[in-house]
Amino acid sequence: MKLILLGSPGAGKGTQAEKIVDRYEIPAISTGNILRAAVKDGTQLGLKAKSYMDAGQLVPDEIIVGIIKDRLKEDDCKKGFILDGFPRTIPQAQALEDMGVEIDKILDIEVSDEAITKRMSGRRVCSKCANSYHLEYKKPKVDGVCDACGGELIQRKDDAPETVQARLAEYHEMTEPLKDFYKKLGKLVIVEGQEEVADTTALVFAALED
Ligand code: ADP
Ligand code: ZN
Repeated sequence: MKLILLGSPGAGKGTQAEKIVDRYEIPAISTGNILRAAVKDGTQLGLKAKSYMDAGQLVPDEIIVGIIKDRLKEDDCKKGFILDGFPRTIPQAQALEDMGVEIDKILDIEVSDEAITKRMSGRRVCSKCANSYHLEYKKPKVDGVCDACGGELIQRKDDAPETVQARLAEYHEMTEPLKDFYKKLGKLVIVEGQEEVADTTALVFAALED
């Protein structure tokens, strides 16, 4: 199965991607995670991407398309994959079409800007392993400490309130038009994001089995 997860920043794509990975045994490919790893490692790619990311802006299409082209060539993608955070612009979606990749379904997880703003302000991530938590909805067992690896939990720079507003504006302008793009291809499925993660997951699984 080849899937795309669409949705606003903070709509919970990453969390749902993990659930799909467990059930369908296909890899999740998150361009955000790939970029953050590159920034952390200080690679050429990381150096190029960092200033855009910190400002809540999209990284240029040609950089992102290059990352995806390489990643989809790897062996684990043969049985399918979930794209989380790609494509985010029409040119990126077009590039994916031009690569001849046949996507089965595009799931759009819809959450209001208001709910997103509230969620993002409470989001914390592990500084070591990138696991994510929430001060209200997904608390770690010990405050400020990662359950998985004991690393320190921090707020991502791009989760700061001003940056969140910039990311939402960017989403509406650049990414939301993808809904129409995929609707025309007859592959768009809309899932209303629920307050409880498990409730959204149930809707996601139902949409995939449909
Ligand atoms: P979110 O929490 O907004 O879903 P991600 O973790 O997917 O964020 O991405 C974080 C940042 O990485 C984005 O704000 C953007 O700067 C960059 N990025 C990730 N994926 C893409 C993409 N497909 N195109 C352009 N920029 C991207
Ligand atoms: Zn951790």
